Amino acid sequence: MSAAQPTGIYVHVPFCRHACRYCDFHFSTLLKQIPEVVAAMGREAELRIPHETPARTLYWGGGTPSVLPDAEFRALNATLRQRIVLEPDAECTLEVNPEDVTPDRVALWRSEGFNRLSIGVQSFRDDRLDWMGRPHRGQDAVDAVRRAQDAGFEDLSIDLIYGLPGSSLGE
Ligand code: SF4
Repeated sequence: MSAAQPTGIYVHVPFCRHACRYCDFHFSTLLKQIPEVVAAMGREAELRIPHETPARTLYWGGGTPSVLPDAEFRALNATLRQRIVLEPDAECTLEVNPEDVTPDRVALWRSEGFNRLSIGVQSFRDDRLDWMGRPHRGQDAVDAVRRAQDAGFEDLSIDLIYGLPGSSLGE
């Protein structure tokens, strides 16, 4: 990785509360090892990211970054931000699931320097969410978007899945 040109940092957070039916990334078995795995991720970041690496974007994807407990979230974020120098208008994104977007958590993410959320909505229909094996309800997704906006996130995206078996073009 060159430190000369601003770069994009992607952090893969390999944890999920459960395995969604359509997904090949099943990290639910790692949940009990969050402290050890996050500590190892921090050590790897220290080994691989040169000091003062300029960055224009920071993106935490998964898996589900929003399952990280506060302590591990803060520790990993601190380690990363000690290694990189973000540009003033850098985009810092966190992938989150609707059920994790509580007022406390969204305030924490904001205070930790994230300015964009990517919310795993997938569908606003409960029957489709049941088919996918997602734990949230359509209303939870609406609430999550509003909570994020209330906390000051102006830059939001949502994931939506379409073309499920039995769904119509109109749907
Ligand atoms: S939460 Fe995301 S990464 Fe995890 S199993 Fe579901 S779709 Fe896959």
